[in-house]
Amino acid sequence: MSVATQCKFFGHIITVEKALAVRKAASSEERRKLVFECIKCGKAVRPHLAGDRCKAHFVHFNRNPECQYDPPKDY
Ligand SMILES: [Zn+2]
Repeated sequence: MSVATQCKFFGHIITVEKALAVRKAASSEERRKLVFECIKCGKAVRPHLAGDRCKAHFVHFNRNPECQYDPPKDY
């Protein structure tokens, strides 16, 4: 398993830092329209802030065990 630090955003590959900045700059109304896609499987992902044990990364809205970017359960 590996974590995704890039995603597709309106056809462009962007980093999780960029995605977090985009989301932070958006109003709550705009935020609902932001669609980040997994670069591997194309499913919707959301940026996740860095934690104690991990750096910032993307997680799938709905878990996708088929995708190598689906983090392990204890993440
Ligand atoms: Zn994926």
